[in-house]
Amino acid sequence: MPIKLIAIITMLIFNLPLAQAKENNTNEKTPIPDLISQPNTYWKNKLSPQVYQITRCSATEAPFTGKYWNNHENGTYKCSNCGIVLFDSKSKFDSHTGWPSFDKAMDNSVKTRTDSSYSMERNEVICKNCGAHLGHLFNDGPTSTGQRYCINSASLDFKKEGTVKKK
Ligand SMILES: [Zn+2]
Repeated sequence: MPIKLIAIITMLIFNLPLAQAKENNTNEKTPIPDLISQPNTYWKNKLSPQVYQITRCSATEAPFTGKYWNNHENGTYKCSNCGIVLFDSKSKFDSHTGWPSFDKAMDNSVKTRTDSSYSMERNEVICKNCGAHLGHLFNDGPTSTGQRYCINSASLDFKKEGTVKKK
């Protein structure tokens, strides 16, 4: 019977988008892995030895050696470990220290904790999302914020403004 056939086709057509929507919902509910609690072995496998030493063992790159201390291009600086945006190039300034320096971080992207190594009391800056060591925060910044985020290039991934990701 043609009517029966039409009914079946109609059902198929209307069911298809429903099935797709269900699949999308399921994907959205997939939990994001908790990066903060990942063991060091996870990062050792994921990162280059240099990036691992700096971001996971709190090493500091030698001044004037990193890839971004002298970068003046417009864009954003992401965490080299997890990819969240940490700094905007608009916040970057020339500190003449040999490390990329910023006068503020993106909202909700970093946190600080006291670092008492090398007989100094410093504010260590870490990525709020994955716990990567980024650098230190000082209160001697030359701009109105008074802050100087002194950050290792190895902790950052620069994304130039206008760079469109190929699909
Ligand atoms: Zn991160």
